[in-house]
Amino acid sequence: MSHVDVVVVGAGPAGLAAAALIATTASVRVTVIDESPAPGGRLRAQIYRRNGSWFVGGDRARTLAHGARESGVTIESGCLVWSLDTRSASDRGAEAEVSLDSPPRFRLGISGGRTLTADYLIIATGAAETAYGLPGWTTPGVLAVGAVQTMLNVHRVLPGDRLAVIGIDPLSLSIVDELAAAGAPVQGVYLPPPSTATGPFTRPSEIFSRLAELRNLAPNRLLSAAMHVLRIPGITELVARLWPAVGVRLAGMPLHLRECVVGIEGDTGVTAIRTSRVDAAGRPMGREKVIEVDSVCISGGLHPLQDLTRDCVLVDIAELGGTVPLHGPDLETTVGGLYVAGNITGIESALVAETQGRLAGTAVAARITGRVSQADLESARTDVETARASAPISFMPRIVEGRHRMSELWAAHSTREATV
Ligand SMILES: Cc1cc2nc3c(=O)[nH]c(=O)nc-3n(C[C@H](O)[C@H](O)[C@H](O)COP(=O)(O)OP(=O)(O)OC[C@H]3O[C@@H](n4cnc5c(N)ncnc54)[C@H](O)[C@@H]3O)c2cc1C
Repeated sequence: MSHVDVVVVGAGPAGLAAAALIATTASVRVTVIDESPAPGGRLRAQIYRRNGSWFVGGDRARTLAHGARESGVTIESGCLVWSLDTRSASDRGAEAEVSLDSPPRFRLGISGGRTLTADYLIIATGAAETAYGLPGWTTPGVLAVGAVQTMLNVHRVLPGDRLAVIGIDPLSLSIVDELAAAGAPVQGVYLPPPSTATGPFTRPSEIFSRLAELRNLAPNRLLSAAMHVLRIPGITELVARLWPAVGVRLAGMPLHLRECVVGIEGDTGVTAIRTSRVDAAGRPMGREKVIEVDSVCISGGLHPLQDLTRDCVLVDIAELGGTVPLHGPDLETTVGGLYVAGNITGIESALVAETQGRLAGTAVAARITGRVSQADLESARTDVETARASAPISFMPRIVEGRHRMSELWAAHSTREATV
């Protein structure tokens, strides 16, 4: 068993930014643990248009990892944290001050049978894709949108010559744009079949409303140019009804907003998709069409990856992407000394995650050293707001309402705790 002062789980933008800040501000041992082979998290696979040029996440990931190592942070890649014991922290209560000489609060089980203890813990495990199945979805050649993004932007491999995309959301449209830029335009972008997993986003009018809400934060040509028309109140229903059944090529993207994929064909590999027109509720109707493709990309949205925080109070806030650990303004959870940062608190862009990492890092450094001023914390909180307001890609259109809801729930929790 080995001991460090601060452990950060997750070497994405949030975890790396938090670790570097703590190591720079407080003279303590900081270790970042990440299951991936290299630091950077999802940033490594991100390439998208921003203000007319391309943002290359891999470059930013390398800069963040280099900065963290230069500050004295140890980064352990290829290590999975599979268990977390917070009993010592819970026994002592959230407000108890920890001297770095007191017994450690946290005990982490790490792959390889190792155990690591720590006085402070930041969990920055990011987000996971929400999966949904449809007939044929296990056929070789069917990929999740994150896998397509990694193949394309990390390994520089095209998924196929004739790709169909199922799911119309900011991430899938961003990937379609990236594929087109890589010289691999997709055959078509289709609605998913209706199911409990796909929820309302199989209804054409819902898709239009969602795209309209995202218009100001458009990551690509489609959202920035074509969705402009959806600003007109009440037009989404009308556009959904009038949208041509054969689909429309918008800014180079073949969008089929009145057609869903009902099945994927192929034995040893994908050979075709079966599609059907949908009614206003998104239900398949009429004859099926067979379209030849050799690969399929499925996009089902993202949700916070909060498995390691089950000892914290968890709350379900749809505007943030699902279940998240209840946390205060400086990202401390209901388990004293355990902080969260990045997409585990709600699905947002990498730049927001990075500023959240710096906020959590500032808060932990303040607790350890007693030296960080309120002004520093205030400034770190403002940086998060600024990054949120100017984010190049927005996954959850009502993220600000979600953040307000979190503040209300935290205030209610703190009041209850104070009266017990
Ligand atoms: C498939 C996918 C595609 C995305 N595409 C974009 C995009 O194009 N643009 C954009 O702005 N945002 C995108 N995002 C959102 C993205 O999550 C944020 O941009 C940003 O990377 C979040 O930063 P983070 O530090 O919170 O988490 P991440 O960058 O996701 O980093 C979390 C890290 O934690 C590690 N980890 C998780 N659990 C454990 C564990 N138990 N033990 C050890 N390590 C663990 C993971 O391996 C990962 O490296 C995408 C997210 C996903 C899931």
